[in-house]
Amino acid sequence: MRRARTVPIQGHGNKAYCATEDDDLIPPGMRLLLNSFAPRQIKAIESDYDATAWETAALGLLTNEDAGTKISFKKNAPVEQGTVFHLKVKEGHGLMPGHVELRAGALNMGSPNVDITQRIPPAELSAPHTGVHNVHRLYLSAAFRLLFGESLGNNTGVGALIVSPLGEILAWGKKSSAHPLLHAETSALLMYGENLPRGARIYSTLKPCKMCRAAIEHFSTDDDFLSYYGQDDPTNAATGGDVTKYVLMASATSVGERPIWADNKKGTDIRLRTSVTQNLNNNFRSERDRQWNLGIIDFIKDGGKKKNQTMLRTAADYLEVKQRKYSDPKLSDLHNKNVEKCLDHIAQVMTQLGIPLPPRK
Ligand SMILES: [Zn+2]
Repeated sequence: MRRARTVPIQGHGNKAYCATEDDDLIPPGMRLLLNSFAPRQIKAIESDYDATAWETAALGLLTNEDAGTKISFKKNAPVEQGTVFHLKVKEGHGLMPGHVELRAGALNMGSPNVDITQRIPPAELSAPHTGVHNVHRLYLSAAFRLLFGESLGNNTGVGALIVSPLGEILAWGKKSSAHPLLHAETSALLMYGENLPRGARIYSTLKPCKMCRAAIEHFSTDDDFLSYYGQDDPTNAATGGDVTKYVLMASATSVGERPIWADNKKGTDIRLRTSVTQNLNNNFRSERDRQWNLGIIDFIKDGGKKKNQTMLRTAADYLEVKQRKYSDPKLSDLHNKNVEKCLDHIAQVMTQLGIPLPPRK
């Protein structure tokens, strides 16, 4: 049994106490932070264990976003029971507090049964293939599509999917404004509620921040995961990270998997083509040259920046482009069974989430 106790800033409520079993996936300090309506007002977390990487990163994020935040994590402090947190649990999901409105969910829609973990060296991209190097951009497009789901709270800045190694979408998440630690990835992980299956794939519209990377690694089995993302985040929140585990879907020549193209130069040498990722990154950098304090989330959400919104829409609509291709019998020579199975599965999930693709003719 591990215990932790928060020490809030004077005048801001009672001390809170949380104990969890050693095999609880969420460490107690993390539970206290997630259960707090105002985690930045906590002064200290006292515990009888070392801070996990996830907790350290979460505290770093809170401080990074607001320099006035000062939460210390003290190990070996005597833990006396203060106010016990009543951890409300959402039905069917063991990990989340009940007071927060999550923009996330777990899914159980069956598997397309396509091994999406095979990787193809860039040099062999033009050789006959199984199609799996093409499916990652379908899942990435689905993550972008979450941003446009009205029933899902519209564009909250980031969308993410957790996908099994056989292509099944296990959980989805969007950044929530209800709590500073509920990013797209953490929300999806909390709703999935278990350790990730070996070989899991995570697709995020934006580079996972340090806190989300720590959370992904916390939930992963033997670090056997791969994370793909569609837009870089050059800000301090996300710098660093293992580039072999966190893959920017920018150019086919660099990673072996094809990105979502922003141009219409099909058949052109892929080295000459531009991806949605490259455009989003360039747009952010040039916009930030004009406004030095522009945040990446504000940049993504700002509907006034038309070229940026057009790029996000291009990424989200890539699935529709694929639907049209797979509806056209004249293109049947170009249809790939594995891609088609993944596309069908993603289409089912999108329908379930209220952002359906146009039907296949
Ligand atoms: Zn994050």
